[in-house]
Amino acid sequence: MFSLKCAAGAWMARHNLSYRSVTLGMTDIVFYLIGTPGTPGTPGTPWTGKEREEWRASQPRLRSYANDVVPRIEALASRFDVSVYGTLDYDGDVYPLYALRNGAPDPALPTALVTGGVHGYETSGVMGALEFVETRAADYDGKVNLLIVVCVSPWGYERINRWNHDALDPNRNFREGTGAAECAHLMALVAVQPGPFLMHIDLHETTDSDETEFRPALAGRDGTDYDPDTALDEASRAVASPAGLVDTAQALVIGRFGRGYSTLRQNQ
Ligand SMILES: [Zn+2]
Repeated sequence: MFSLKCAAGAWMARHNLSYRSVTLGMTDIVFYLIGTPGTPGTPGTPWTGKEREEWRASQPRLRSYANDVVPRIEALASRFDVSVYGTLDYDGDVYPLYALRNGAPDPALPTALVTGGVHGYETSGVMGALEFVETRAADYDGKVNLLIVVCVSPWGYERINRWNHDALDPNRNFREGTGAAECAHLMALVAVQPGPFLMHIDLHETTDSDETEFRPALAGRDGTDYDPDTALDEASRAVASPAGLVDTAQALVIGRFGRGYSTLRQNQ
């Protein structure tokens, strides 16, 4: 077993690969073999189009939006209003963007927006939003106008990535004139929804790859220094505290590899 592990590790290193795991349920842990994105370009110098292309080339498709997400949305069409509010076309990879409503908006009722998959690598947001529509959303008929988008960033979902095709973080790009198509489409959808909105639940998750992958890539992209985040977040602290490991480097690792969770926090 040991030699097998060493051989696998050497093979992955030789091919510049690593693995990533995603927990889909209490017992389902899926390991993905991935290309290490690293940080293309020169440290201290922001990326140009060339480095973005290098980064993109290191992001293989690891799962299917068309297989995992779209059929579950289509299956809901008999009970909810399903519409396509935009389409992403990235080098021929076409992603229809779906919104769900619990009927025509009633002006007498408050409106709530639920979004998942703004960060495509935060799987629980996508699956949680789908499960909410499948099992709970009908409870709000006659009480709330629901507008639900279960997967804002399907390109990122397929590559288990925080960023979109253009190495942009959708959650930092909801603004006028945004360069992120995911954001432009969602903002246009929200703009035509009769309001006012009473609330927005945006489903995010703490992942185990931010410190090893995405924050170094962010520093590389923007030409800034990578400053490791040594502050434990709430979930990490909950895991680390009973072990007496709070505020040590070890606790950070143990905490970040603890069970993921969904949160209402914005700008994670
Ligand atoms: Zn997030």
